[in-house]
Amino acid sequence: MSKRVWISKSALAQMMWNCECHYPRETGGILLGYFGDNGEPVITRIIGPGAGAVHSQMGFHPDHEFQMRQLEQAYIESNGDDDYLGDWHSHPKCDNRMSHLDRKTLTGISRSTAPKLAEPLMLILTGRRSWEPACYQLSLLPKCKLVPARFRRLDVKNYMPE
Ligand SMILES: [Zn+2]
Repeated sequence: MSKRVWISKSALAQMMWNCECHYPRETGGILLGYFGDNGEPVITRIIGPGAGAVHSQMGFHPDHEFQMRQLEQAYIESNGDDDYLGDWHSHPKCDNRMSHLDRKTLTGISRSTAPKLAEPLMLILTGRRSWEPACYQLSLLPKCKLVPARFRRLDVKNYMPE
């Protein structure tokens, strides 16, 4: 059985709405949540791009300060349950596979020190209006740099938050 990722319906709806608003330009943000006892990630909420983000058809640059403030607030509000899980963004004009840059970004998250996360997620939304989510996870980076990083695709499941 392939590994699953759980997304709250409200978080998914928020991402889809944001993708639609910015179409045909790219948008994105941050995934928040936790890892369940079985190791499966649970995305409880998301952070949007922020008012200072720059959107284009080829990519986008988030409002980093806004996102860091939101991240801190979510952490406090949830008593530390909701933490950084990775990034999400839209592919308005292409399929749901990770681009070369996406792979580099995901590997970079794993190697950076803040926020620290060994196996980060990247969620990509495609297909205008339906905005199907595809979610990838970086498998633990091999110690030897000659071995390329591995990315696995997770089964996306929705859940209703209480
Ligand atoms: Zn991408």
